[in-house]
Amino acid sequence: MSGSQAAPPAKSPAGVEVVAEADVVVIGGGPGGFAAALRARREGCSVVMVEKFDMPGGVHTSGLQGAANPGVGGIHTELMERFDREGCIYAADEKSLPGWAGNALSHYDYYLPPGSPFKRVSFNPDGAGNVMVKMLDEAGVHAIYGASFVDVEMEADGGERRITHAIIETVGGREAIRGRVFVEGSGTAEVVARAGAPFVRGGGRQPETLSDGQSRPIPGGLLWIMSGIDFAETAAYQKREDDPALSKLINKARAAGDIPPELYRPRLADKGVYGDHYIGHPTVDMSPIRGPGTFILWQNVPYEWALHMDDDAEHASRAKRDLRRLIDAEARFLVKYVPGFQHAFIAHVGRYVGVRDGRHPIGEYVFSIDDAREERRFADAVTRPMTKTFFWDAYKRYTFEIPYRCFLPKEVSNLLLTGASLSFTFETIFMVMRNFPWCTQTGEIAGLAAARSVRQRITPKQLQWTEPLF
Ligand SMILES: Cc1cc2nc3c(=O)[nH]c(=O)nc-3n(C[C@H](O)[C@H](O)[C@H](O)COP(=O)(O)OP(=O)(O)OC[C@H]3O[C@@H](n4cnc5c(N)ncnc54)[C@H](O)[C@@H]3O)c2cc1C
Repeated sequence: MSGSQAAPPAKSPAGVEVVAEADVVVIGGGPGGFAAALRARREGCSVVMVEKFDMPGGVHTSGLQGAANPGVGGIHTELMERFDREGCIYAADEKSLPGWAGNALSHYDYYLPPGSPFKRVSFNPDGAGNVMVKMLDEAGVHAIYGASFVDVEMEADGGERRITHAIIETVGGREAIRGRVFVEGSGTAEVVARAGAPFVRGGGRQPETLSDGQSRPIPGGLLWIMSGIDFAETAAYQKREDDPALSKLINKARAAGDIPPELYRPRLADKGVYGDHYIGHPTVDMSPIRGPGTFILWQNVPYEWALHMDDDAEHASRAKRDLRRLIDAEARFLVKYVPGFQHAFIAHVGRYVGVRDGRHPIGEYVFSIDDAREERRFADAVTRPMTKTFFWDAYKRYTFEIPYRCFLPKEVSNLLLTGASLSFTFETIFMVMRNFPWCTQTGEIAGLAAARSVRQRITPKQLQWTEPLF
């Protein structure tokens, strides 16, 4: 690494100092990148992983999204068991959190009949991030934190091109990492974009109820944590005053001028998926986390802002600035008006605004909603048939497989896709195929494919995938 006393490092063809070299270079340490790095290392490869923030986990640690789900085995299940053993898991049920099931403020459990049994399990994002750092260290992954991937160097490879170096920016300046196989773990297909490979920009066809002809990405979100909430008092107020969504308090605050008009944005009820799930200030949307009295709150980019936060710096900056204003206004409203929040305070704001609808790479196969509807099977399936509920499609359940070709971007021979950057159409990725367990699975699949390619001295494109991993 830069700063070492070793012989002067080599330069890349473009003249950038080469600070590391590995069989597998993973860009981004979210669920996809983390699992890819761990699996490839456990398969015996040398691995460098580059992560912008100070821990792996992506949206689920740096972004504060702490919903836990045991998954279907492999690294994801191991991860959840390790979080549990290391004291990072918190579980709430109808006994520990009465008034939660069916509560309009509950991000996940609002639809349950009031009082019904439930179990919500979450993890402490920072504690979980520490565990993930340890797991990579234990495995011997060379993780470089606080490093931004910014570019690639490439060379011709038959009819395609291959990446030779990833270019990163660190406190040491611009540096290069040489690798044989590269893994896209940025969550927004940044490697695909820098490599000049094809992708579809976020913001495709939208539900007709909100369609005005303008292409809008599905909103991203910034999560934050509030501590010191006495939820029993809030639930008692909601019931006593018949004010489930706190509308009476919101109206009172508006009348008193305590909610700036430009920040007021009512819940878009009955307007398709966005109405129920992607709401604006000041309708609180929260999930229990870490222990009693501490909740994650959701601050989603208003749909009408139509921000492309993955490829437009002005949009990304607006999201950060304006969501902070919304959080500030919402916290002030809650503390001043809502019973149970008198002693609450902002404990944490996510390190970044999570992008739900960024670039969608075009791979050797683009998985579409029709593949799910028609329950297609593939000779190169990466998993056994999976059954998933498509709430985009009237909550229908389909059983289908995903082909390995969805992990292979067109035009680049040695790059594997993972997580939210797979070759899927946006309906499939947004509605079903982007949850934490699946993204970790995709990373593990990519890590194994990378290791097999290295062992066989071929590119991931040349690798024959014949058996499902999960
Ligand atoms: C607001 C929001 C809420 C969500 N809620 C849920 C939920 O409740 N349950 C659920 O299961 N899923 C949820 N998801 C979906 C899930 O979190 C994502 O689909 C998943 O995290 C994607 O994993 P990933 O590894 O592809 O990317 P990410 O989690 O985005 O991780 C990408 C990583 O790459 C790093 N990175 C990015 N660019 C660079 C760069 N240039 N250089 C270096 N590092 C870089 C980032 O810092 C990050 O650590 C949510 C997503 C969002 C955005």
